Amino acid sequence: MTQTALSDWSPASWKGKLEAQQVRYEDREAVQIAAAKLSSLPPLVTSYEIERLKGEIAQAQRGERFILQGGDCAETLADCRPEVITAKLKILLQMSLVLVHGLKKPVTRIGRFAGQYAKPRSSPTEKGTLAGSEVELPSYFGDLVNRAEFDPEARRPDPHLMVRGYQHAAMTLNFIRALIDGGFADIHHPDHWDLSFMSHAGLSPERRAQYEHMRDTLADGLRFMEALGEKNVEELTRVEFFTSHEGLNLLYESSQTRRVPRRTGWYCLTTHLPWIGERTRQVDGAHVEFFRGIENPIGVKIGPKADPEGVLALLGTLNPEREPGKIVLIVRMGAENVGSRLEPILAGVAASGEPVLWSCDPMHGNGITTRHGVKTRSVDAILAELEQSIDIHARVGTHLGGVHFELTGEDVTECIGGAAGLGEDDLDQNYASPCDPRLNYQQSLELAFLLAGRMRSE
Ligand code: PEP
Ligand code: MN
Repeated sequence: MTQTALSDWSPASWKGKLEAQQVRYEDREAVQIAAAKLSSLPPLVTSYEIERLKGEIAQAQRGERFILQGGDCAETLADCRPEVITAKLKILLQMSLVLVHGLKKPVTRIGRFAGQYAKPRSSPTEKGTLAGSEVELPSYFGDLVNRAEFDPEARRPDPHLMVRGYQHAAMTLNFIRALIDGGFADIHHPDHWDLSFMSHAGLSPERRAQYEHMRDTLADGLRFMEALGEKNVEELTRVEFFTSHEGLNLLYESSQTRRVPRRTGWYCLTTHLPWIGERTRQVDGAHVEFFRGIENPIGVKIGPKADPEGVLALLGTLNPEREPGKIVLIVRMGAENVGSRLEPILAGVAASGEPVLWSCDPMHGNGITTRHGVKTRSVDAILAELEQSIDIHARVGTHLGGVHFELTGEDVTECIGGAAGLGEDDLDQNYASPCDPRLNYQQSLELAFLLAGRMRSE
């Protein structure tokens, strides 16, 4: 509880700073109405959960735990459906069990869900054709801000969507909490998993043998726990999920930021772990100003343009008291850059003694466009960035404590590669993401096996 010392901070102090990716609402009165409504509604998460997550991140910083963060690039209001939510929980849970087994340490699961509704864009406007003529409209900034259809009315930022976003986040969370309370025992078991990627010809015989061995020992372990009796299984396999999203729309975030009884400081109660994106992490900008005052653990994306001095300046502003569990640096350099860019940053932060959790997002630096103009990512590049990161950490003497994926539990065709050998020409079979391409169920599970195998040999 250090932030009470921040006498120059308030949930609105960001408004005096330059705001990258600022949403331009036309109707100021409607903004006030939406913000007031959000301020009056109950929080989506509690300070107890937030502090528990901070404690788990502190453990991961010490190498005692691993953090798995994943979910959609952009959640949509339309995807607030039971089958979509269940599929996302399932894949995250199954990946986490593979990682627990490989790494031999507890894994904390953090979904990019229940509020991942706001998206930064490289350009504030987009050109397109409407009724035969070319027009320029605001870009789609996610369902929290405007709607995806290329239509002037749909693209107009609508403040009421913040309230709708809050409601859908609440419905999503309500269902997640109910599933967790009810326990989803069936998916604990590899017997019930879809491991068909293991039988693809694209997988080498050595890898297949390694994965089959891991699957069998994992299943044995779970059977053993079951034999101990129901209560013990419940305790040992208690499933917990935390939520996260990019804290891009500061009006939304600050409207749910409040003090809570018996604690000092301010909590942003839209999510457990908000993060600052690569495009909004200017040290003197509005986002860093808002984030420096909240008690939540916070993520910061670190891209290939970052240098050690810039990262240290961010840490000095966001975590001046060097609180453990507070900062997750989500590094997203790209497979081509990580070899030259990561090491000086790791060394600089390690030398400063700042406590951070190093996570690797191998998605956002590895975007490519196919010859048909489709945005995709290759599983090979994703894996290459992960592997290089693990090696560089080992060289510097730091450790990779988490991973951050864009994925879905569904059978989409958005990323190429993987054992099933999805190619560029397969992408139109089921490309459903309104934003960045996600790993599908099989690709996600395969990556968990790859990572578990790779990190086990550390
Ligand atoms: C994202 O996580 O979807 C995203 C936009 O990432 P970044 O800020 O790293 O580009
Ligand atoms: Mn994305």
